[in-house]
Amino acid sequence: MTMTILVWIEQNDGQAVSNCWELLAKAKELGRELGAGVAALLIGNDVGAAAQQAVSYGADLVVAATASNLAHFRLQPYAAIAEQAVERTGAVAFLANASIRGGVLAATIACRHNAGIAANATDLWVEDGRLVAGRTIYSGNIQVRIHFESPLAVASVRPRSFPMPAPADATGEVENLNVEANEDDIRLKISDFRAADAGEISLTDAHIIVSGGRGVAEDPQKGFELVGELASTMGAALGASRAAVDAGYIPYKHQVGQTGKTVRPDLYIACGISGAIQHLAGMGNSKIIVAINKDADAPIFQRAKYGIVDDLFKTVPALTAEFSKRLK
Ligand SMILES: Cc1cc2nc3c(=O)[nH]c(=O)nc-3n(C[C@H](O)[C@H](O)[C@H](O)COP(=O)(O)OP(=O)(O)OC[C@H]3O[C@@H](n4cnc5c(N)ncnc54)[C@H](O)[C@@H]3O)c2cc1C
Repeated sequence: MTMTILVWIEQNDGQAVSNCWELLAKAKELGRELGAGVAALLIGNDVGAAAQQAVSYGADLVVAATASNLAHFRLQPYAAIAEQAVERTGAVAFLANASIRGGVLAATIACRHNAGIAANATDLWVEDGRLVAGRTIYSGNIQVRIHFESPLAVASVRPRSFPMPAPADATGEVENLNVEANEDDIRLKISDFRAADAGEISLTDAHIIVSGGRGVAEDPQKGFELVGELASTMGAALGASRAAVDAGYIPYKHQVGQTGKTVRPDLYIACGISGAIQHLAGMGNSKIIVAINKDADAPIFQRAKYGIVDDLFKTVPALTAEFSKRLK
């Protein structure tokens, strides 16, 4: 492969983080325009299944680096391997999921290659034969384009920035990198892993999200209980606005928006959320938005396909009762 877009596929216990497939499919589209191939980089212990998946999502080549002490992300060996993969594939772009791990890996690769980086990008496209990244600044009020002057373009891309592709029957090559991950040389040691809230539906993977905002302020505990009941009746993930998080009604991990998670569900039900630009930045790409708000002029109604102008304390339990009858 002469020119390549290299995409890091984040994994946990051999299972790829699904957002990376969105990025891989986007890379494929960009590769067609740039005349570049697409390579997926997988680092872990057992990445065989993920490698096959990467091919089905569009990788022409999978570069795999495996060792038992690479099972979990540790920056030092992962960055050394990614650097090796950049050289090996002749990468013109290195793309990673903008998770904490992807962000730090992308930044390290950019530093080591003296390359330009677009951190937390929300869009990628080709202009005049070169990659351009888009992201927002100033609280989501300004959209900027980032042009790269360096031969290598590095970007960390927010999950759900692109639609989830469907896997296809495809063929691709898997190449194993020889790695020396000498445990004594790795400074970071992992002593334990604990899954957070097993059983909870992940916001970024959810097809349906029910979110609550400051509209529950009259009785926050009751309000989020009602919003949570609607979410669990619908098999949905529970989201929130930043105002609700800042007020301590619900933990940060539920926050949707510019400084929270970016989501792209089929259905997003916003309960007592005004629709500030920073909230829309995280959920504006939902397929169908339903808003429940007692203020008919709330900006969220401009983005919602369906709206209920009413008190959420009345409407949300009514919806839960109706859905639980129909979804039995
Ligand atoms: C740098 C920066 C980053 C930010 N990042 C984020 C982010 O990631 N996510 C985010 O959400 N925000 C973010 N914000 C904050 C954002 O600007 C808004 O302040 C926030 O989204 C408002 O949350 P809200 O809609 O819940 O509250 P409000 O704007 O106060 O809206 C509450 C709504 O509830 C309605 N309501 C009240 N009572 C009821 C009731 N009983 N029944 C029905 N409706 C009712 C009201 O009419 C109102 O529309 C950010 C701001 C900045 C400056």
